[in-house]
Amino acid sequence: MQPAVPLPPTVPSPHGERPRIAPLPAPERPDPVRDRWRGRMRLAIEEAALATATGDVPVGAFVLGPDGAVLGRGHNVREAVGDPTGHAEVVAIRQAARAVGEWRLTGCTLIVTLEPCTMCAGAIVLSRLARVVFGAYDPKAGAAGSLFDVVRDNRLNHRPEVVGGVLAEECTAQLLAFFDTQR
Ligand SMILES: [Zn+2]
Repeated sequence: MQPAVPLPPTVPSPHGERPRIAPLPAPERPDPVRDRWRGRMRLAIEEAALATATGDVPVGAFVLGPDGAVLGRGHNVREAVGDPTGHAEVVAIRQAARAVGEWRLTGCTLIVTLEPCTMCAGAIVLSRLARVVFGAYDPKAGAAGSLFDVVRDNRLNHRPEVVGGVLAEECTAQLLAFFDTQR
């Protein structure tokens, strides 16, 4: 009788003839909260890569309308234009506000490869974005839960939903690869 369920793959044991059961790769657990943003985060990673041409830290951002349409996009241009506020989020938010025709980005989502800093978290609150989705956590400067939690501070009158850690490993690897080249 053949077993109904296929056996796991085996590798020959170096200690004898009897096969050893090889460890199966850990199954990727479904993550319904983060998984739906993975495709958009890949686009933000591509946007981030554009920053390195001017020696800027690779951070990329998108603003999506309530229907998912792209309203704004941007990457870090701090070095490119010599602007301390030239963070990817600010660039994308400004473009989205121009597209919408007003400063309120009600119902919109910001996707960004790195956890927003205090300035960008402030801009997110002030633009009334409904949601912020970020990739890499920033323990040193993150203001969406790591060092501060500006976007979910009960004392402020607007608190967007936060989804952190989407493709966090890829986003972190992109930043680390950049800083490696800067040494
Ligand atoms: Zn920022």
